Amino acid sequence: MNSIQGISFLDLVDRYGTPLYVYDADIIKRQVDRLNNAFHVPHLGIHFACKALNNINILKLLREWGCGLDTVSIQEIWLGLEAGYKASEIIYTPNCVGVDEIEMAIKLGVQVNIDHIETLEYIGSHYPDTKICIRINPHVMAGGNEKISVGHIDSKFGISIYQMPLVLRLVQALKLKINGLHMHTGSDILDPGVFTLASEILFDAARKFPDLEFIDFGSGLKVPYKVDDVSTDVEELGELLSKSFNEFCKEYGRELKLYFEPGKFLVSQSGYFLVKTNVIKQTPSTVFAGVDSGLNHLIRPMFYGSYHSIENISNETGRPRIYNVVGYICETDTFASNRAISEIHPGDILCFKNAGAYCYSMSSNYNSRFRPAEVLIHNSKDYLIRKRETMDDLLRNQIIADL
Ligand SMILES: *Cc1c(COP(=O)(O)O)cnc(C)c1O
Repeated sequence: MNSIQGISFLDLVDRYGTPLYVYDADIIKRQVDRLNNAFHVPHLGIHFACKALNNINILKLLREWGCGLDTVSIQEIWLGLEAGYKASEIIYTPNCVGVDEIEMAIKLGVQVNIDHIETLEYIGSHYPDTKICIRINPHVMAGGNEKISVGHIDSKFGISIYQMPLVLRLVQALKLKINGLHMHTGSDILDPGVFTLASEILFDAARKFPDLEFIDFGSGLKVPYKVDDVSTDVEELGELLSKSFNEFCKEYGRELKLYFEPGKFLVSQSGYFLVKTNVIKQTPSTVFAGVDSGLNHLIRPMFYGSYHSIENISNETGRPRIYNVVGYICETDTFASNRAISEIHPGDILCFKNAGAYCYSMSSNYNSRFRPAEVLIHNSKDYLIRKRETMDDLLRNQIIADL
């Protein structure tokens, strides 16, 4: 793997430098198509989870391809509007944010998704005409010993399914306009059958809300990180869930929209992170490949142990050796341990895969380093879509006080 759409990674490095994020628009489109083709329902709504990758060019392409936007902050809403999304195409799913921010979102006209009973009550009494979606935590334990953690009992997300009687009383008393139900658990869907069972809990709750327009199943679509890795069988999920959803709609008496809000599934595999090897450092036990990046640019391996496969694209056919690939930050920032990679020499360019989701969007200026540039490959052309930072960026908001 050394090029995208005929454009070589090494050429891109020559032109834009390292470290560099590169995204393949074809892969994002492929994933959108795959999801659309997997489901057989009258109205499928795909809302891209903006927090995974927030470059405005990518948001624009996704909108062209028919996606809406899933946002978790007022800033993500503003970004979405900037990218051309209509307010009605944006869902806002805040957690533990102040009510003032939620009011701003309501005034902008986006679909709000509430996961807190007091907030529901506040909105109901102050904005009686606003249509509200409710985020439910189903706490599902499905199938024998097979435990799927569709929302732990101690999770801060969602309104507990056990509090539905209270919610219903509130809805009736305040005549709330509940137009959607939602769940997003953050856990991976590895067994579509079990997930479909879990969705019955949402259908059960839905029977009590007569004015629904949509049911939002969140995300949890897992992508492969290495060869033979487990991932969500989206086609099987589409078959099973479409069937139970269509049956539910028939019983409910109306065609509802089925929503998903994937981040990783749409963009993870589209991204590549290119770094340059600064040093090869042999200790008595380990060979370290030290690169010109660190947890400031790609924190997932250190933050939650994610796996990124790494190739040496400067020496693809070299003899594999075992490396710890580490960053240049003054903390332990290990990207990969005991990894077999074609022999690495100082100056070699390494390519990290699955660098599309939660990579650039989680980057920082730690150690006062500049954030990388981003390049998008679309229709066999490369576009610089974010420039590398400079000293101006580090100094921008610093005020020289008269001390
Ligand atoms: C993060 C998030 C998503 C996206 O999750 P992925 O695992 O990236 O698909 C969807 N919905 C909500 C509410 C989220 O917080």
